[in-house]
Amino acid sequence: MNSYDVVVVGAGPGGYVSAIRSSQLGLKTAIVDKRFLGGVCLNIGCIPSKSLLRNAEIAHTLRERGKEFGFSFENLQLDFETAFKRSRKVSRRLTRGIGFLMKKNNIDVYMGEAKLSAKDTVEVTAEDGSKENLQAENIIIATGSHPVGIPGIEIDGKQVLHYEHAIMLDKLPKSAVIIGGGAIGVEFSTIWSSYGVKVSIVEMLPHLLPLEDEEVSIELEKAYKKRGINVLTGTKVKEVSAEADGTKVVVETAEGEQTLEAEVTLVAIGFRPNTESLGLEEAGVILSKQGYIEVDEHMATNIPGIWAIGDVTGKLMLAHVASAMGVVCAENIAGVETVQLDYRMMPRTTYCQPQVASFGYTEAQAKEAGFDVTVGKFPFQANGKALGLGDYTGFAKIIKGNQHGEILGAHLIGPEVSELLPELTLAQRNELTTEQIARNVHAHPTLSEVLMEAAEAAEGHPIHS
Ligand SMILES: Cc1cc2nc3c(=O)[nH]c(=O)nc-3n(C[C@H](O)[C@H](O)[C@H](O)COP(=O)(O)OP(=O)(O)OC[C@H]3O[C@@H](n4cnc5c(N)ncnc54)[C@H](O)[C@@H]3O)c2cc1C
Repeated sequence: MNSYDVVVVGAGPGGYVSAIRSSQLGLKTAIVDKRFLGGVCLNIGCIPSKSLLRNAEIAHTLRERGKEFGFSFENLQLDFETAFKRSRKVSRRLTRGIGFLMKKNNIDVYMGEAKLSAKDTVEVTAEDGSKENLQAENIIIATGSHPVGIPGIEIDGKQVLHYEHAIMLDKLPKSAVIIGGGAIGVEFSTIWSSYGVKVSIVEMLPHLLPLEDEEVSIELEKAYKKRGINVLTGTKVKEVSAEADGTKVVVETAEGEQTLEAEVTLVAIGFRPNTESLGLEEAGVILSKQGYIEVDEHMATNIPGIWAIGDVTGKLMLAHVASAMGVVCAENIAGVETVQLDYRMMPRTTYCQPQVASFGYTEAQAKEAGFDVTVGKFPFQANGKALGLGDYTGFAKIIKGNQHGEILGAHLIGPEVSELLPELTLAQRNELTTEQIARNVHAHPTLSEVLMEAAEAAEGHPIHS
């Protein structure tokens, strides 16, 4: 039996990063995955969806904004199959890179389904049914999550879809109902509507992206309505049926019942952890009611030597959070200096158009938590670079705590805001104040000037508004 200091189960952005960090720290490491290196994120999630979103952005500009920019097309052809193939190529390129990184870091890769056959043994069953046992001082569970369905509604993968079916579509439907106004729902709304698909998006809560600052959600809803997306918030799905000529979704709105008809329906209402059939209960690992693995700040479970990171812990189901947990976990196993993660302050980004990026307290949460706050806000409409790009929907909003001038949170919506957020998370992590951000000279013209101006607004002396 091969033995290791660390065996990582699951090769997503949590698992493979954790394996690399373990190996860097001198631990003999193996990684097991039943399906692919790179996990959901690189194969069927973050990466291919961002490739499709780039195509969507170009398609939208060509279809809707040619006149404004002075381009005209006689017979504009939008070939979605090429967009799909490009997304697969981007994904393949990155996942091949993970294979290379495993080799470079001397990490043994086992392809097969893993299960704990004892507290210190991982049994790997390969596709051909052959079994191998790996002895492990430490086991890191990084098995990710899977999409949840709606009770009583069959996801057939043809007409009623979840995200993986949607991301692997090489032809577009003519129309779609998207159930769920979270990150996945709004990203697919952007992709499909940009290509001219008739999209309705249904969210049970009062707003799209319901966990974001309310002003951000409202701005997104306005932008979506302008794009012709049928936004139904505060709307409950009662029934979904697939028939020969398409799908029917019966919804309950504030005004009464409605039936939405579309070629396909995408169910994007959330995720559940992959904790079944892993032998966790037998090993005595404590799971939450919903099945997430409970971990402490070291990423340790209640069983010594068994650790967990990423989506499977349900902390914050984002790729970079899984990776950060993976690094902290490896460092704790190796017993070297590490950090404690503050999940509230983790960056969150959604790549709809306009993009949304945030961290920390929303304005409402900060007030509810008893902070005395000032809000500094600045619109992209008054930003020269955004105007030049022709992309000036949205704003930057910084929540400042009045006691120390500290940054409690930031909520951005607009062009490339995912690239602007790190300035603010770095400032927050290092306890910089809005005054210091306002004093940091930003190059002109840049989108990042909105952060400086929002910080100036929080200090009470905005220049351009
Ligand atoms: C469409 C879509 C878009 C997304 N976009 C973003 C984004 O832009 N930014 C972002 O931060 N997040 C995004 N996410 C979320 C992100 O993909 C996840 O948070 C991230 O993949 C979690 O990483 P992980 O390592 O915990 O698990 P995963 O990436 O899910 O990896 C888990 C791995 O474990 C393997 N596995 C499971 N069970 C076993 C077993 N028994 N034996 C062996 N292997 C097993 C699986 O095959 C898989 O490879 C997106 C998700 C989706 C679906």
